[in-house]
Parts: sequence; C-alpha cells; structure tokens
Amino acid sequence: MLGGVAVGGDAPVTVQSMTTTRTADVEGTLAQVYALAGAGADIVRITCNDPAAARALAEIVPRSPVPIVADIHFQHRLALAALEAGVAGLRLNPGNIRNPGHIRAVAAAAAGRRVPIRVGVNAGSLDKDLLERYGGPVPEALVESALHEVRLLEEAGLSAIKVSVKHSDVPAMVEAYRLLAERTDYPLHLGVTEAGPLPAGLIKSVAGIATLLLEGIGDTIRFSLTADPVEEAKAGRRLLEVLGLRERRGVDLVACPSCGRAEVDVIAIADEVERRLAAEGVSLQVAVMGCVVNGPGEARQADLGIAAGRGKGHLFVQGRVVRVVPEEEMVEALLAEARRLAAGGAAGAPGA
Ligand code: SF4
Repeated sequence: MLGGVAVGGDAPVTVQSMTTTRTADVEGTLAQVYALAGAGADIVRITCNDPAAARALAEIVPRSPVPIVADIHFQHRLALAALEAGVAGLRLNPGNIRNPGHIRAVAAAAAGRRVPIRVGVNAGSLDKDLLERYGGPVPEALVESALHEVRLLEEAGLSAIKVSVKHSDVPAMVEAYRLLAERTDYPLHLGVTEAGPLPAGLIKSVAGIATLLLEGIGDTIRFSLTADPVEEAKAGRRLLEVLGLRERRGVDLVACPSCGRAEVDVIAIADEVERRLAAEGVSLQVAVMGCVVNGPGEARQADLGIAAGRGKGHLFVQGRVVRVVPEEEMVEALLAEARRLAAGGAAGAPGA
C-alpha cells in the first residue's frame, strides 16, 4: 500500500508522475500535484534533495489528494526526514547510501511506518563494476543491480518493496523487465527512462510499457517525458484505459483517418468533437466516420456516432439511427446527444 493506494497483486495498475517544481515551493508544488492528480496520476513523486525540501514535504503531504513518494538519492538523513514528514513511499537505492547502519536505520523507520521503498535502477546510473563486467547497461546488468539492492533492503528487514529497471532503449527495457519478472514477485514499476519530448517520448514509452502490460508484467507505470508532467499523467492514464486496465474517464473517439472517399471533413469534425466533448467532461465512446465503408458499423457500436455520406450523415445513438444531419450541424448534434446521454435522457429525443 502506498497510503490508500494498493500496488501489486490484483490491484489495478496505477499511474505515477513526478513534480518539476522546487519542492521547497510548497504552494507551487501542491498546485502541480493537484494538476497531476486531475490528469490521472494515482501517485506523485517529489524530490527530497535537501533539508528545505524535507520540511516542505511535511506541509505538502497532508494537503495532497494522492499519496506522495519522496525521491532520495544519497543522504539517508533526507530519507528519515521524508518519512518523518509522512510520505507514503520512498524511492531510493540503498547502494547509494552505502553505510549498512544507515540503510538499516532507513529500512527500520520505513517498516515501522509501513512505508514501501522502490528500488529504482536506471541504465544511466548503473554501478561501474557492473558496467565493466557486462560491458554496458545490458538488461542482465540492470536486473543484477536491482536484485542486489533488493537484498540490501531485505537484509535490513524491509519486505514492502517495489522494483524498477528503467532503460532509455525500448527493447533493452522490455527485456530487463521480462528477466526481472522471472526472478522476483515484488511489484514492478514500469518506465522507459529519459524517453524525451513529445511525440517521440510518448511512442517510446507506449512501446515499452504496453508491451509488458499486455504480457501481464507491471503494477504501476510512469511516462518519463521531457514535457509538462501533466502530459505524463494524461498519457499514463490513457494507456491504461485503452488497454482495458482502468475504467474509461472522458471521451474515447473512434475516428477514421479519412481518405479520398471521405464525403465530409472528417479531421476537422473529429478534432472539434474531441475538444468540445473533453470540455463537457462526459465519458463516452464517440465515432466520427467519413463514409459508408466502415462508418455505419463503427457508429453503431459506439455510444454515439456519425456515419457520413455526401455532405450529411446518419446520427447513431446507442446503436440506432436517430436522424440525418448536414455536415455543418454534425458537431452540435453529437454534443447535444452526448449531453442528453450524460444526463440519462432518451436518445434522439425532440429538440436534440
Ligand atoms: Fe476513407 Fe471511408 Fe474508411 Fe474513412 S471510413 S478512411 S472515408 S474509406
């Protein structure tokens, strides 16, 4: 458990992100935590890199809408201070702390508070000896490093552990997690590290994380994008929804890519419908289809749909045609029906 959020076992896969504010800026950090939670983050990580950050965590944690994980690197005192501040989890590698007495002190304080620790091995900061032995940050080296870090925590008396073996190379990341999943039952935190800016960062993250989730590997995920972290939270949540691992929140737009057969401006209509339905906050599947080839089939299966013909289209609501609307009225007709469905009203009622 990370606070009130279960991770691992049969628990739903969760979304994590990390703040980019200075932690000592309590109000700025909390504003970002709220934005991340609103965008789909179940858990938020915050760096605890100095004593001012640890003091700020004591103010942030009780006001946060989601469990907070403190990110620690070298100083065990900051780990102890973060625990004192009430964080729900720690991310630290005991190998960075080195002193066995310090590792035991952190493990004991975490265990006493029932706070889990994530061992987070990263290809970019792998131990020099392992790099030399394996000739680089190969999947086997990441797994060996992670299991070594896990053993240090176990020897210090901690059993609430999560593990990650992040790599910026997607095939290496996938292989590392597959190897790790064979060797441990601890919950796994998935991520392609340093995935970079949009859209390439999204593609790398989805390629790695989705591959593993579809194999049943992974309990919690983070997209590491060079972007506003709200994009990370949105993308993580969306990925879990499209994989059927979390309930859909918001609009799922099924729209054809358009082609030379299209008889309306599918791209413009789909963009406007998606933007305006998102603003309405409704949770529906909506189809916007450009012609009769696949249009009626997709529109019938969605909650709402338009199957276009020449300059007009059939409006489907919950599987049946309710009327024919001209192209220029398609967006408004879909919005009216979406509002009606969201309010629990009858499909296609007069005045729609
Ligand atoms: Fe083209 Fe029609 Fe298919 Fe859309 S539904 S891509 S317009 S053939």
